[in-house]
Amino acid sequence: MGRMQITLAILKPDVAVNPHIVYAIDKSILRNKFLIIKRKRLRWPKARAEQFYFQHAQRFFYRRLVEFMSSGPIEALILAKRNAIQDWRLLIGPTKVYKTQHTNPNTIRGQFGLTDTRNAVHGADSEESVHEEVAFFFPEFDVGKWNTKGHYLIP
Ligand code: ADP
Repeated sequence: MGRMQITLAILKPDVAVNPHIVYAIDKSILRNKFLIIKRKRLRWPKARAEQFYFQHAQRFFYRRLVEFMSSGPIEALILAKRNAIQDWRLLIGPTKVYKTQHTNPNTIRGQFGLTDTRNAVHGADSEESVHEEVAFFFPEFDVGKWNTKGHYLIP
């Protein structure tokens, strides 16, 4: 079964600007039995995008990524499910949209992603990333407490 777990998702500006797509992704989230524990709509100043993606600072797409992520609204979500981290990565599909459109057309990126950079959504890739990214968006949210006390029942 796997244990109850949280993950961190981001709806990127290419989809967050469109309420119809946000609605479609929400339906997909719920249909796949994720609970939405917290959500925040915000806009990143460039410096925040740089900070979030600092690990990619040397990559050729870094500037493009930072410009894109600070170009419009984003939504950060804490999602809960058994095996949430892996399940969300599966539901969103591989990073590169041009491939994903063919290999995984039913994933969120396959359906809504536009390019390799403008790929609709983000998903944390490990428990360590979840901790860091939850703290980045929701400093008030205590992951440890949630884990031990089952606070997911009263989000
Ligand atoms: P993921 O978001 O799937 O974990 P990465 O952490 O490798 O992928 O990359 C972070 C983000 O940088 C991607 O979601 C995408 O927006 C962008 N990106 C990654 N690789 C490329 C690429 N080859 N070309 C353009 N943009 C990319």
